[in-house]
Amino acid sequence: MIINIIQENIVLPLSDFFTGQSVHKKLKFLMQSKYWSRKQLDDFQNERLRALVKHTIETVPFYIDYAREHNLSSEDIQTKADLNKLPIVNKEIMRREGIERFTSNAFPADSRIMISSSGSTGEPFKYYITQEDYSMDIAANLRGWYDMGWRLGDKYIKISQNPRSSFLKRLQDIVTRNRYMATADLSDKHLYEMMQEIEKYKPIVIRSYPDPLYIMAQYRLSHLEFTFSPLAITTTGNTLHPHIRHTIEKAFSCPVLDSYASEGNAVCFECLTHAGYHVAEEYGITEVLDDNDNEIMDGMGRVVTTDLWNFAHPFIRYDVQDRVETTAALCSCGKAHKRILKILGRDNEVLTAANGKRFIVHHFTVFFEPTVTPQLLDSINQFQVIQHIDKSITFKLVVNGNYNSSVEDFIIRYWSNELGCKVSVLVVPRIPIMQNNKRRFIIIEKEDDICCNSLIITPPH
Ligand SMILES: [Zn+2]
Repeated sequence: MIINIIQENIVLPLSDFFTGQSVHKKLKFLMQSKYWSRKQLDDFQNERLRALVKHTIETVPFYIDYAREHNLSSEDIQTKADLNKLPIVNKEIMRREGIERFTSNAFPADSRIMISSSGSTGEPFKYYITQEDYSMDIAANLRGWYDMGWRLGDKYIKISQNPRSSFLKRLQDIVTRNRYMATADLSDKHLYEMMQEIEKYKPIVIRSYPDPLYIMAQYRLSHLEFTFSPLAITTTGNTLHPHIRHTIEKAFSCPVLDSYASEGNAVCFECLTHAGYHVAEEYGITEVLDDNDNEIMDGMGRVVTTDLWNFAHPFIRYDVQDRVETTAALCSCGKAHKRILKILGRDNEVLTAANGKRFIVHHFTVFFEPTVTPQLLDSINQFQVIQHIDKSITFKLVVNGNYNSSVEDFIIRYWSNELGCKVSVLVVPRIPIMQNNKRRFIIIEKEDDICCNSLIITPPH
């Protein structure tokens, strides 16, 4: 359509010209490299890695010191196989050392952009990126959207937690044909209005965090007057669990394609075959490591990423602290890009049971999947697992009409056996989503929490 051609060839280059970005060029490059062979990807990554490491150990204080202390020169890092000569870093190390220790002293200060991300603890994490890095980030995401069948100029809806505040963002929404919807109040009245808006606007793609979309999907399943289906729904920002995906796909009658990103830029988009995610390897190197920091080609490990485009505040071997499952098997879609089978989430969502067994969110979401556990009669809409100080467990459940006492007995029996402790069930009307639009599936209570909570909620005797 003419609108797509105008957006791609006039609006985007003009926007790049005024903002100093290079999204148009990067997107063109990424569309061409989409079917690169493994060797082409490796050669490209190794070449950029050599340049990045040379720049970093010559101009970034933390790495200047590290290279001196470990007698390391840029010549020692020739390919990805040499990456293990460099230290694994994480957010805590970067915070402790301070932003200046990780910032290049040779990169012009007026050409870098400061990013401040809030993170789960609420304490902001600050770092710099470059215009080139930012452009690559947008282009890598756009490529994922193009794969879904969307093009610049096509209508889309973004569902987010906050209302649009800046005039510039609102103007950008008009130019890019984005309808922005805030999820501030997910009351039935608000859900009805959102559904009406989707019905009228007819977006090609809807983008949202999984959790608010899950509530919308449940609402829509009981309001059959809404029938519009977008081409696809794309989720981001939080782990997309199978039962959530299943409900959203059923409600909107369209595929859900998930994406994953983090600071340090391990951008991944779900493959159209639904056989996992492809890493945007032109953007960064994603290592999956075991607990001894050895690379895993098949199996579960944590994500450690190297951003090949950020020369202002390099992220080299940055431990994102998310766990994933990877595979070396080639994808049937023909892409050679590294494949992640599952995004399992944060390290801190690990529940160590009384019997010493460790459980991640995935163990519980699989259990609550109706196709995996038919004994549940498809009666659980939402769940949250709470581990108390004495290691006993409470399952908070939002249930539907199919729920009965034998389902409850089954849950208690099954999990008492698995966890080796007392298990109870608490049926609740809703499980709130947190401020950052995410839901916590596992809560591990600590001594401090209980102390504070009991001060607040215990009535005087
Ligand atoms: Zn694929």
